[in-house]
Amino acid sequence: MTEAYYYSKEEDKIRCLLCPHNCLIAENKAGICKVRHNSDGQLHSNVHEEIAAIHYDPIEKKPLYHFFPGKNILSIGTIGCNLHCFFCQNFQLSQCKPSDYHESIILDPQDIVEKAMAIPGNLGIAYTYNEPTVFFELMMDTAKLAQQTGLKNVAISNGYINKEPLQELIGVTDAFNIDLKAFDEPFYQKFTGGKLEPVLQSLRMIYQAGRHLEITFLAIPTLNDSIDSFRKMIDWIVNELGPDVPLHISRYFPAWKSELPPTSAQSINELADIASKILRYVYVGNMNQNKYSSTHCPNCGNILIDRSGYNIRICGITIDSFCKACGKSIGLPYVMPPV
Ligand code: SF4
Repeated sequence: MTEAYYYSKEEDKIRCLLCPHNCLIAENKAGICKVRHNSDGQLHSNVHEEIAAIHYDPIEKKPLYHFFPGKNILSIGTIGCNLHCFFCQNFQLSQCKPSDYHESIILDPQDIVEKAMAIPGNLGIAYTYNEPTVFFELMMDTAKLAQQTGLKNVAISNGYINKEPLQELIGVTDAFNIDLKAFDEPFYQKFTGGKLEPVLQSLRMIYQAGRHLEITFLAIPTLNDSIDSFRKMIDWIVNELGPDVPLHISRYFPAWKSELPPTSAQSINELADIASKILRYVYVGNMNQNKYSSTHCPNCGNILIDRSGYNIRICGITIDSFCKACGKSIGLPYVMPPV
């Protein structure tokens, strides 16, 4: 347990200022995320060293397709989340309370960085599996140490974080994948317990700061897959973030409290067809390999990065980022090392 960042005292309670819930927390109680706790008049993180998952994963699994493709990255997570999506695909970690979880291993930021450095060829550290905002102190302390060693920091997040901590996080993070769960405020409020606008604000901030950014959209039948709403989301992305932000359209499967059937493969491909008319890099996730698995030249369609599962072949792009077939400048800065 460590003292949390970003909180203030309000009479006999504590206001957590980390995410847009801004929970007002009474003594001996926790916030909505269940892992930030008011004890003795201080806000504490219960997940500063309690690692619930640690794996060495392909960077594509995050998913990040344009950030050092083919590399692996040490990935860590804890328990807890500041959203409560009833369809959560990772509810075992995200929705459980500290008192119900007994499998964490204890690693402090220095231990994590040492582990990351000991793996030959490791790209860096990914903060993922559950929502990293709720283990902000662990993420920041680790990322600052990692940055000094040349390791990359990657955050996989729902984007539900206040401006000031996000600004601090952007300072030490090289790449983000942010979930955009719907382009629909009532959806966010009804099905996630959060709000859409703060997520859009986070996307704008990350993009405007020039950090590498990819977006994941989990398409759930009848809830967020209407063509009209999806088109509005694509229009927002292209207008605010430009056409080069990669979009991952992920197939939903029933999980946690949701008994809705899986999204059909046909529906995912239809959404990808719509998005790819406007965005240059559209991918599908939780699907068999198809034309949306690989990266294509937006000019001539040549395969730039060929993906078969997690087998990656960088084949159609030169080291200085031109299409080998048509010569178009592609502008994928992290696909090859700089010349
Ligand atoms: S991080 Fe947790 S405690 Fe803090 S405002 Fe968000 S949900 Fe509440």
